[in-house]
Amino acid sequence: MPELPEVEVICRGIIPHVRHARITDIRYSGKPLRTVVPIDAMRDTLLNVPIEKIWRRAKYIVFSFANDMTLIFHMGMSGKLTLCPPETPPAKHDHLFFTLDSHIQLRMNDTRRFGQVVFVDREKSGDLETTVFKNTGPEPFSEACSGSYLHRRARSSNQPVKTFLMNAHIIAGIGNIYANESLFAAGIHPATPVSNLSLYQWEELMKKIQAILHWAIDCGGSTINDYINASGEQGYFQANFKIYGKDGTPCTICRAIIEKMKIGGRASYFCPVCQKI
Ligand SMILES: [Zn+2]
Repeated sequence: MPELPEVEVICRGIIPHVRHARITDIRYSGKPLRTVVPIDAMRDTLLNVPIEKIWRRAKYIVFSFANDMTLIFHMGMSGKLTLCPPETPPAKHDHLFFTLDSHIQLRMNDTRRFGQVVFVDREKSGDLETTVFKNTGPEPFSEACSGSYLHRRARSSNQPVKTFLMNAHIIAGIGNIYANESLFAAGIHPATPVSNLSLYQWEELMKKIQAILHWAIDCGGSTINDYINASGEQGYFQANFKIYGKDGTPCTICRAIIEKMKIGGRASYFCPVCQKI
């Protein structure tokens, strides 16, 4: 599943080709995605209107148009946005085709069809943070997402720290891969109850989260299952995984054998020496 770095890489890849362009035609495969594709609303309001801004929020890519309408893409399990010349034959699992006046076509491809396209009308587009994203936690790179913020949110909870980090209401964009990698980097066992962590530990963990996400973005994201970036290339961050999927192999720090357990139903990896509860 694409996490924050993969979505950021897709977003950066498409911005130069899509910003200020206008959509001249929209086609749809008709196959259902996670929610109903707002094809009529898109055709009625977005054709020939300049795309003013494209950015990432959590794991969403947001397009805002000059008429104050908004289109939001969520990649789900396997979604991606790709660019190609409009005459390129449809690839398997291409579901949405946006032809742009910049002579390029933006496509949403989604093998497993858990992706989503959300149309937001003018009334709600004005302040997405209080409408669409009202339950979404702060961005990991924002000032709001400090160690003291996490410490405060964790005070009255006993859930495992890994589950807490993957909760998008608490902090945006962190899934299983980067939760595992950040906790290893911070030397914190993924099952540690959050109320046991000190303010200092939260501050150190926050620094590791930011460093790892930056590093992953610089590497072009990771390639897990179906994920490829906007230019159709694979990301390379998985070469730098230190803990994710490494059970049975020696820890890069202490050589103890990495173990695996399920936490909140998700595969969790840890070094029994470097990450004690
Ligand atoms: Zn170790």
